[in-house]
Amino acid sequence: MHTVLGYLRPYRFRVAVGVTIKFSAAVFELALPLLLAHVLDDLVPLGDVSAIWRTGVIMLLLAFGAAAANITANRMAAWVSMRMTETLRNDLYRQVERLSCAQLDRFTISSLVSRLTNDTYHVHQMFDKVQRGGIRAPMLVLGGLVLTFFQDPVLALVQLLVCSATFVTIWLVTKKSIPFYAKAQTAVDTVVRIIRENASGVRCIKALACQGQERERFASANETARDAEITAGVSMAAANPMTNFLLNLGLVCVVLVGAVRVDQGAMKSGSIVAFLSYFTLIQTATLGMAKIFVKISKGAASARRIEEVLLAPQEQQIRENGREFSTDLGMEQASFSYLGVENDLRDASFSLERGQTLGILGPTGSGKTTLVSLLLRLYDADDGVIWVSGRDAAAQPMQELRNRFGVVFQSDMLLTESIYENISFLRDLPEEDVIAAAKTAQVWDFITSLPQGLQTRVDIRGANLSGGQRQRLLIARALAAKPDILVLDSADSALDYRTAAQLYAAIRRDCPGTTLVIISERVASLREADRILVLEDGRITHQGCHDQLVEHCGRYRRMAQLQMGGGQA
Ligand code: ADP
Ligand code: MG
Repeated sequence: MHTVLGYLRPYRFRVAVGVTIKFSAAVFELALPLLLAHVLDDLVPLGDVSAIWRTGVIMLLLAFGAAAANITANRMAAWVSMRMTETLRNDLYRQVERLSCAQLDRFTISSLVSRLTNDTYHVHQMFDKVQRGGIRAPMLVLGGLVLTFFQDPVLALVQLLVCSATFVTIWLVTKKSIPFYAKAQTAVDTVVRIIRENASGVRCIKALACQGQERERFASANETARDAEITAGVSMAAANPMTNFLLNLGLVCVVLVGAVRVDQGAMKSGSIVAFLSYFTLIQTATLGMAKIFVKISKGAASARRIEEVLLAPQEQQIRENGREFSTDLGMEQASFSYLGVENDLRDASFSLERGQTLGILGPTGSGKTTLVSLLLRLYDADDGVIWVSGRDAAAQPMQELRNRFGVVFQSDMLLTESIYENISFLRDLPEEDVIAAAKTAQVWDFITSLPQGLQTRVDIRGANLSGGQRQRLLIARALAAKPDILVLDSADSALDYRTAAQLYAAIRRDCPGTTLVIISERVASLREADRILVLEDGRITHQGCHDQLVEHCGRYRRMAQLQMGGGQA
């Protein structure tokens, strides 16, 4: 709670002013019933019309004053809580950006999204409601009870009892219901997730004709959400009727007990009217207090979830005085495990000169993407050394390290922006660099064939492009900033053989000093490479150039024969 509460600090002056305004409004509101009793008990029997008018005007002014003060303070509260929520959300977003990939995996993306949206909303609600009612409600309750106590202790006791009953009822009912609402929220999250999966996988679902199963999956998630909402609704069903009942019960008690007291001559009849006003005031304030408590307990839970992220330590340190290496890029005995159970990459060693090409080949899940993720320090190796541009990767500032790379990953996305923006990718690159990159990536002819050229908009997820066009745009993006090292992770899977060959030839021609790392399942794409790694189950089983591998690695030879009819072609 501490860290999140700290976001209130810059606004503490405003909060104090707002709370003071609320305080005076509560004083006005508490004075009203007293004046009412005064009119009824003292002025009416005297028939002093002008005094009645005067008091009436004062009461009107108080009522207006209270309303105006409450409106002003509520506006200030809204202003403060919205602004601090904005700052909190910004910081949270920045922190999420700062998290390492391993931390992202642990938190999971969907949980981070809900912390950024749902949880900041609950914290906002908490701050807003506490500022609006945190002082006002308890003050009305206490002030009301104290004032009435001096008028008639017995009636005040009746009020106290009924109010305590109300508070306890609301507290218990909502306390019991909150977990149900949390469950309902999770169920709704699942529904949303399925909708999102369906939307992104719509082609696959249609192609495999599994709409039926998807409909069932959706229906069952929907059913779970329904049941959870019903449980929550049912458990909350008692809240409003119970409070109304207690309000009515209290009013009846006040009138009955009051009538007896008036009959005994212990109090004046006008006080009963004042008591009724106080009672309604106190009862409403009690409800308000119970609701604030609920907001606080929800808000505190959310604040904890937000703080977990905000206070997550910086995991990836920059090592001091890292080693220098004689080669440009490489690994020595590097091992890594995502979950700390089984090594997803084991004892990987290789090295490469500047401007050379590294090919990586291996079945799905063999650790190809993992290997390049370690080069980029998306994850940190558990063991071994990794060097980039001749220097220990762990000793280079993150930004500097990553700026050396141009990368295309399998799962990379296009933005719903112009083609130019997609290649330049928020880096404000000059147009000639973008055009040069597009030419090298073999996508310039396609771009010029479009009526709006570079300014053509890419639809969501690149839906208006073919798979090959998308891949070449991504390659152009990776090339555009003229990286030292270009990593292409299965970036040729949707290209025909001729285009792929032209692409690699163009990259070699246009970027002579660039070190290339090509992950591909095509022997044709790798055969020119200076060094090819064959991966299996997280291990580099063989490495060498094409000819060496054809000779020594059975698996490679078979692939080459299969794909190229003999491997020597
Ligand atoms: P490839 O790129 O060769 O298809 P990967 O390097 O992506 O394979 O994956 C290697 C292994 O690591 C696989 O067994 C995969 O299940 C596991 N893996 C990959 N990414 C993660 C992750 N973020 N969390 C846990 N395990 C992962
Ligand atoms: Mg992969």
